[in-house]
Parts: sequence; C-alpha cells; structure tokens
Amino acid sequence: MAAPLPVALEGADPTFADLIAARPALSAHALDGLLMEEVPLARIAREVGTPTWVYSAGTLRRRFRALRAALDGAGLRASIHYAAKANDNQAVLRVLAAEGAGADIVSAGELRATLAAGIPAGATVFSGVGKQPDEIRLALREGIFQINAESAEEIEMLSAIAAGMGLRAPVALRVNPDVDARTHAKITTGKAENKFGIAFGDAHALYAQMAALPGIRPIGIATHIGSQITEGVAAYRAAYARLAEMVRGLRGAGLPVERVDCGGGLGIPYRDEAPPPPEALAGAIKATLGELGLPVMLEPGRWIAGPAGVLLASVVLQKQGHARRFVVADAAMNDLVRPAMYEAWHGILPVSPSALAAPCSPADVVGPVCETGDTFARGRALPALPPGDLIAFLDAGAYGAVMSSTYNARPLAAEVLVDGARFAVVRPRQTPEDLLAHQRLPEWLTPAAGTFPGAAPPA
Ligand SMILES: *Cc1c(COP(=O)(O)O)cnc(C)c1O
Repeated sequence: MAAPLPVALEGADPTFADLIAARPALSAHALDGLLMEEVPLARIAREVGTPTWVYSAGTLRRRFRALRAALDGAGLRASIHYAAKANDNQAVLRVLAAEGAGADIVSAGELRATLAAGIPAGATVFSGVGKQPDEIRLALREGIFQINAESAEEIEMLSAIAAGMGLRAPVALRVNPDVDARTHAKITTGKAENKFGIAFGDAHALYAQMAALPGIRPIGIATHIGSQITEGVAAYRAAYARLAEMVRGLRGAGLPVERVDCGGGLGIPYRDEAPPPPEALAGAIKATLGELGLPVMLEPGRWIAGPAGVLLASVVLQKQGHARRFVVADAAMNDLVRPAMYEAWHGILPVSPSALAAPCSPADVVGPVCETGDTFARGRALPALPPGDLIAFLDAGAYGAVMSSTYNARPLAAEVLVDGARFAVVRPRQTPEDLLAHQRLPEWLTPAAGTFPGAAPPA
C-alpha cells in the first residue's frame, strides 16, 4: 500500500489505494488491515459475524456539515431534510438529528422512525405519490412541516382529511419540471413520462385551486428530479429556473409562496464519477432561486449516507470456472440489491493487510442466491481470497440495508455504527427463528409432519 498511486487508465477501475484515499473514513493499517475510523473491520467481523453493514458516524456528521457549509456559504436560507429512505436505521437518524437535520419521509413507517430518533415532525417533509389516508392523518396529527402533493386527486383527499380534523394542511406542490437528470432510468423522476409530480403546465392552475380549498394552506412548490445525479448541475439549474419562473407567476397572481423545496439527488462517486460538489448545487440554487428571497429546502439522502457505510462480508469459497474465477461471498443480492437492480458498481476491498498488498487478477464476485443477477462485480481485479477472508463493499450506506429482503430465507444482516474508536451493534442480525416466528399455519393443515412417500420405512 505504500507504493505511489499508479496513473489511472481511462475507464479502468480505481485501485485499492485510490478507493481508500478517496474515502476519509477508511484507512489501511499494516497489522489490522482495513479500518473504518479507528476500528478494524476484522474485529467487527470477529465479534458480530458477517454479512454486516458498518456505518461511520464521523462520515455522516462530516458530510452533513459540508452540505450545511456549502448552503451557508452561498448565502442561502436553507434547511436540510435528510431523506430517511436512504438509511432509516435509528442510530443513523440519531446522529443526523443531533446535527440538526430535518427529515424527508415517504411513509408512516418512516415518520415513526424519524420521530423516534428525535427529528421533530415540524422539521419533516412528507413526499410520495401514494400517501394513504391513515398516513396523512398521522402526519397532520404530529404537526408535519410540509406535505408535498403530487396530484390533483391527492390535493382533494388532503383537503378533505385536514378539514375533517379542523386543520389546514401545509401543502407544497411537487412540480415535474420535465428535465432529464441524466441518471439511471430507474431513478430518474423529473421527466414528463415519470409518475412523479404535477406537469409544469398544470401547476399554476392547481396551486390556485389549492388556495381555495378549506383544508389546504398552500406554502410553496417542490421538485425532485432524480437520484445519483453526477453530470454537473445543468439539470438542477434548468429545473430550478422553471420553479423560479413559476413562483414569479404565482406571486403575480397574488398567491402566497413561502418556500421552495429543491429535492435531493446529488450523486456520489462509486467508481470514477465526478459528481458536482455541494458548493456547485448551492450555487445553482442561488443563481436561479436566490432573487426570490425565499427559504429553500434540500432533501439529500444518498449524498449524506452512501459514503458512510460498507457491507462487510466473508468469502465462502473461490470457484474456478472454465474461463472465470468466482469469489462467492456470504453477502448476496438480498442484502445489497443495487448491482442487480441498477447495474450499480461498488468498490470492493479486501480487508486483511496481506490481501490488500497481494497481486490481483480478475474475478467475478457473486452471492449464494439462486439468481444469475446475484452478481456484485464482473472481472474485478482482486487478490486470491481463500474461504473466510473478508471483503468490504464500499459506499453501501444508502439504499443498502433498507432495500434488503429475506429472499432464499436469508436472515437480515446485522448493522453496526462506528464512532471513532468505538463501535456498537445498532441492529442485531436476524435469526433463522425470527424468519419463522411471524408465520402462521391455518388450523386445517395438520400439525403432524407429512409422510414423504419416498422415505425409507423405519427400521
Ligand atoms: C428519494 C428521494 C430523495 C432523496 O434522493 P437521494 O438521491 O438519495 O438524494 C429526496 N426527495 C424525494 C422526494 C425522494 O423521493
């Protein structure tokens, strides 16, 4: 690891040294191997087992503060509403709550989680295309800061529910600005063909209608154009310029606008992407919306939590195929689904000091699940990784554990928070018993074990 960094070939994967150097929470120790903050990942694996999600509290704080500083530096009056869907672990939410984060939630479950972690409803935005009446009632009862409405139908429902409770719901209209965020099709949300938001051309009239409804207090407009946005801030600028135009129109019509919600979506470097820094996003907001003099809101998820986590796994075995070497890990697509779902690239680092320094050759890294899609990486330069060796999937702090399933009856992995030299299990590993505990048999299925016709008769 002491050798100078090789010059990266264009299109080539970053080296282990590159990956570590770009991630301040990670370092390679000559004796302990890969560390997160001051804790050897090998120690966590020894004490907690694998697969395990490991989050860096320091990284969460550092990134939240960097975003805050960028917004302040641009002279914006801005509030940050962490998108809880990226990682809703209570410990993660609590670290961010202590930093003064608000929340962006998309379900009653997330509202309960953010409230339990100490983020007040008065700092929380409720987004999503299919909010259910019970969820809306809960949000209103708790005193939600803002509900982002996504359709005329939803606005009717919001008004009826709020009026029935003797309230006026604080509603922002989510506008679909029809811009292409140039990200993966499955996480683009701001194009006209996407299910999200209200068509730009319809938004002004709908806002005016909202103002006339008994259960609605129109407070502003919102947008969210996509996720993992890495190709500059042009799409943001285009979207925000449209919002500014709309605010001017609304004001011209004498309609109240208190704030503008700029959404989330800022990307992170998984491989060799060079996403715009938060200062560029803040600059784009300032340049387009600054003149309005309104408070703005941001809803970042991935940018804060993604780089703060790794998925720690053990090698089950290496399998030599005809033309390929397969490293079979004990983590699988049911744990980290992003490669299977979005063709996502995640850095993979060996954890032991010897493996970090050993010569590499191409390998496919796969999980044990019975799906060809259960492939984390193809042709990745990795050292020999004998059974039991540890590997870490990088940048797994967002859209990692939250998207896990128990497919193949695999219990949910443990989650650990590292903070300096300390670490703690913040979600114990699910047990095989847990998986069965919540199933019920109807009474007509006899509890007696069946007799399998091929079974040998008892001796
Ligand atoms: C998912 C989502 C976010 C967060 O997106 P990131 O890409 O994680 O920043 C913000 N706002 C809304 C409405 C979302 O649906």
